[in-house]
Amino acid sequence: MKFGGTSVEDAAAMQRTTAIVAGRRTLEQQPIVVVSAMAKVTDQLLLAAATAARGERESALAISERLLVRHQAVAIELGVDGGWLAQEFAALDEILRGLAAVGELTPRINDMIVSYGERLSSRIIAAAFAQQGLDGVHVDARTCIITDAQHMKAVPNDARIEEQLRKFVLPHADARRTVVMGGFIGSTEQGVTTTLGRGGSDYTGALVGAGVNAEAIEIWTDVNGIMTTDPRVVPTALRVRSISFEEAAELAYFGAKVLHPATILPAVKKNIPVLVLNSRNAANEGTRIQALAPPCRNPVKSIAAKKRLTIVDVVASRMLMTHGYMKAIFDIFDKHKCVVDMVSTSEVSVSLTVDSNEALPAITADLSMLADVKYEGRKALVCLVGEDIRGHSGTAARLFNAIKHINVRMISQGASEINMSFMIDEDDVEEAIRSLHAEFFSDPDPTIFDVEGLA
Ligand code: ASP
Ligand code: MG
Repeated sequence: MKFGGTSVEDAAAMQRTTAIVAGRRTLEQQPIVVVSAMAKVTDQLLLAAATAARGERESALAISERLLVRHQAVAIELGVDGGWLAQEFAALDEILRGLAAVGELTPRINDMIVSYGERLSSRIIAAAFAQQGLDGVHVDARTCIITDAQHMKAVPNDARIEEQLRKFVLPHADARRTVVMGGFIGSTEQGVTTTLGRGGSDYTGALVGAGVNAEAIEIWTDVNGIMTTDPRVVPTALRVRSISFEEAAELAYFGAKVLHPATILPAVKKNIPVLVLNSRNAANEGTRIQALAPPCRNPVKSIAAKKRLTIVDVVASRMLMTHGYMKAIFDIFDKHKCVVDMVSTSEVSVSLTVDSNEALPAITADLSMLADVKYEGRKALVCLVGEDIRGHSGTAARLFNAIKHINVRMISQGASEINMSFMIDEDDVEEAIRSLHAEFFSDPDPTIFDVEGLA
């Protein structure tokens, strides 16, 4: 069971989380719990680090002080011992002072500072569990989540994690104690603190679930599951009851905020279902992500969008019809470490999209040796995902007919047969999503979509 930042944001949220875990323990089930930092704490820690690195020692310490007070208040409200918090924050302050003196923030120091969020939230939750009769026991995630040394985006070592979980977690679970670990954090074989990248607690949840061969991995968040689209854009969006791993991964990459894409991988490898559930509405059955999706009469399961993209058009003049042309173009993006999302080509031109403009002037300068280059920002990618897009005719016709009043800049379908994507102006996104949702979800399959949820 992984609980996100909003599920542990304050004492009330922690009490809701405690009740949910207690509910699971009364069944013949033995939960292991992974928690995020309390909501916004990670951002505050990153801010404290950046502030200290600029030499603004007192401001950095003030941020730390506010975090101490917030954590202490939660401990007091829960009626658990928070005496150890002052000591932890004294250690954090020492790092911030050192950082302010040295003025250089390395990824390693950044990880050390940001790890406090999950280290503290997990200890408080473990204490709350102990106090509520759940036999809570805290395990420092860094003893189990062994990673390489790529700070801020460390790569976990699955085999070592499994070994450590067997040693430090399973004996507690066998004795019916409820283990609580922080998400997001890990350590190298040498014991240096690392992190898995922003939003990485889901990843920890899946790594632990896969490592102990759990029956299911539950991702507790503050929405009812994966929706047919963003309900802020389409108020009649429906909850998707069940979705395949492949579909969920496509959606995660294309902007659906519910899951960290990498979450999927450890679960996929072991064929463990992942459930997305709402800690504010625990009775809701959420979304079940599993290897094979049951048949669905609608070709599309969900519509996602990603804004703030730039389209780069590369028109060949000189190298037309020579081999190695694509390689030459992509080598330039590679040299500037620029991630390319979508690509479409004709014989004379290549269009591609990037989500960061930083390197574009330099890339354009390099590309202009090979071709004429233009780029245009404020574009958005809209993508439709569904297993039944594959092998069904007419879906593309329905799609483009539904948005015939909107100018489409790029189209892609080949890469993944379960995804149709296209690029439009950012300002057209809401209108496009509303039109597509009306087209594809006018007659939703009740076995796959929660049609009662709307009433
Ligand atoms: N606390 C970390 C973050 O905000 C990890 C997580 O919440 O998943 O990025
Ligand atoms: Mg989170």
